[in-house]
Amino acid sequence: MASFKTLDRANVEGKRVLVRADLNVPMKEGRVTDATRIERLAPTLKDLIAKKAKVVVLSHFDRPKGKRVPEMSLKPIVPVLAKVIGANVAFADDCIGAEAKRIVDALQPGDVALLENLRYHNGEEANDAAFIKDLAALGDVYVNDAFSAAHRAHASTEGLAHVLPAYAGRQMQAELEALASALDNPKKPVMAIVGGSKISTKLDVLNNLVERVDLLVIGGGMANTFLNAQGVDVGKSLCERDLAGTARGILEKAKKAGCEVVLPTDAVVAEGLKDGVATAVVDIKAVPADKMILDVGPASVRTLEGKLGGCKTLLWNGPLGAFEIKPFDAGTFAIAKAVAALTDKGALISVAGGGDTVAALNAAGVSEKLTYISTAGGAFLEWMEGKELPGVKALEG
Ligand code: ADP
Ligand code: MG
Repeated sequence: MASFKTLDRANVEGKRVLVRADLNVPMKEGRVTDATRIERLAPTLKDLIAKKAKVVVLSHFDRPKGKRVPEMSLKPIVPVLAKVIGANVAFADDCIGAEAKRIVDALQPGDVALLENLRYHNGEEANDAAFIKDLAALGDVYVNDAFSAAHRAHASTEGLAHVLPAYAGRQMQAELEALASALDNPKKPVMAIVGGSKISTKLDVLNNLVERVDLLVIGGGMANTFLNAQGVDVGKSLCERDLAGTARGILEKAKKAGCEVVLPTDAVVAEGLKDGVATAVVDIKAVPADKMILDVGPASVRTLEGKLGGCKTLLWNGPLGAFEIKPFDAGTFAIAKAVAALTDKGALISVAGGGDTVAALNAAGVSEKLTYISTAGGAFLEWMEGKELPGVKALEG
């Protein structure tokens, strides 16, 4: 990864600093239901406040598609943000124009304002030059702290970086450093675990990883597609039979790259994915024709634990089983605990991400113990695919 400028190099005292945040938080009936994203923004805002910047926070919320949709206003975020950073937060009803200028002009060094939803204007997603200019008129310095939006080349995530001095915020910096430690310059050997339901959603991830890691563990529903491609009968399991050739291609590519691929050797099977269903552990070559594979089995878990012990770095996306329903969470939880223990001992650098993966690690109670958990969703996956993220590229230099 190329180098990027951090806040350590920014001179912000008395300056208007436009901070691109991701305040697209879960909300229900106008109330914030999960403030994680707001909390993760706090280090950057507190740093800027301490340095006596005039802080102007920009964000999108949902997809109003260029129109003012009242349900998609950022206004309900104001009290939550104020509480998290322990400071007053002014609010402007629009992110550009006279109203925004009035609020920004009134800021004193160390003050904070939040501007209304960027996506109320079409220019945001269009990365439109006139809109970029309108935003840039409100600031002297640009700080991007929204890694989760960095896979989009929008006005506030990419365009602004070319017209104002641009820096990575603390959260962006933490994310980029964690990701670099997992793939760009990792301690070897490196293991990747890829699970989840389908390989069709993760073909680019798998193709990139086989060339970058020493060991690729495939679990979850997508392992069935690989097993089927190797002639294993997976019964009624979720399986993308039409992708057998693609799966064999990935295995071939792994072989050429010297990447060892590890597939489950046993499985927990049941008639279907429902609470209280009867389950059995079977050898992977003995899956009954009328049963579904819903988790990796105990022998597979032991193999993985052993291999983890020999690795220095782990990158994990995708649960190993249908963890939402017990007891099919057992494989994922066992590995989560093993990863947490190794990380705790200082023996492993562990980086994980993905919507369901984060939920599974939270449910396993280990999220605090991993080296880094990315909540960036789409941007995290695109990074795992080896793609260049426009919002990150724009900060390089
Ligand atoms: P993430 O959101 O972390 O990227 P995915 O969305 O790719 O992960 O995959 C998560 C989903 O995969 C979960 O809903 C889980 O139930 C499902 N899954 C895992 N293993 C199986 C399986 N053996 N059969 C069916 N679904 C599975
Ligand atoms: Mg998912």
